[in-house]
Amino acid sequence: MIPFTPKDSTPKNLLVSREHQSSATVVAVGETLFGGEEFPVIAGPCAVESAHQLLKTASGVCLSGARGLRGGAFKPRTSPYSFPGLEEEGLQLLALAREKTGLPVFTEVMSELQVELVSQYADVLQIGARNMQNYPLLRAVGRQRRPVLLKRGMAATLKEFLLAAEYILAEGNPHVILCERGIRTFGQDTRNTLDISAIPILKERTHLPVIVDPSHACGLSEVVPHLAKAALAVGADGLIVEVHHQPSLALSDGRQSLDLPAFHDMMVSLRALAPAMQRKVYTTMSPLRATG
Ligand code: PEP
Ligand code: MN
Repeated sequence: MIPFTPKDSTPKNLLVSREHQSSATVVAVGETLFGGEEFPVIAGPCAVESAHQLLKTASGVCLSGARGLRGGAFKPRTSPYSFPGLEEEGLQLLALAREKTGLPVFTEVMSELQVELVSQYADVLQIGARNMQNYPLLRAVGRQRRPVLLKRGMAATLKEFLLAAEYILAEGNPHVILCERGIRTFGQDTRNTLDISAIPILKERTHLPVIVDPSHACGLSEVVPHLAKAALAVGADGLIVEVHHQPSLALSDGRQSLDLPAFHDMMVSLRALAPAMQRKVYTTMSPLRATG
């Protein structure tokens, strides 16, 4: 039985609220800090597909200045016939890529039953948009100590988003990074619509760091660098971006994946823009290991 403690859940009384904590929460993932002066970029493939694909992509993004490696081992796919991910083998490959590059690993956990397994390999547990309101899962990641990347549901209001984060904090885990990844609108020209105004509104209402996923937001690789710059300009605390060493061969989300030269160019332009926003976009964190 979960003990029920009635609490006033008006926004001002929430643990996630600025009223509860006025100073920004800085979530540390290894040496990378989310919510401070740094503007960290997490990059990697939509799904882990093979050792070759992951290591090529991971070392490439590392050399261009990524500060975290993303890659799904358990993939939430709209169709049950699409590539579902390599599961534990994918997690092992992520751990190998971390060993070679030094990049901390961000990967999705889809069910409370997977939390223990995924925590053995991941540095940050990602909760996907489709699971933003999976309350047993939110409680389960709240009971463990790894940082959590919580993505906004595709039809979730900001209040619902913050209440989802509240579930994790209420269980005792304060290390939550929020991610705006586009919402469903009437628009048919992009996969979703990046809700750019969500970022300053969230930053005003909560002390938690807020990052942006421009890849799932628009679904078009040529648009991703523009949204990335918009995210930096509007006050986001970082990015998570899909990159594949050969996007045309990707088993999922190839159309929105940057190739390595395009990722490099995006990082160069973010680095140029960052000082105007009093932010820092670092260059490569471990050049020696990245070449290994
Ligand atoms: C992902 O980042 O791999 C993903 C599936 O994104 P979302 O949950 O935002 O759709
Ligand atoms: Mn994807």
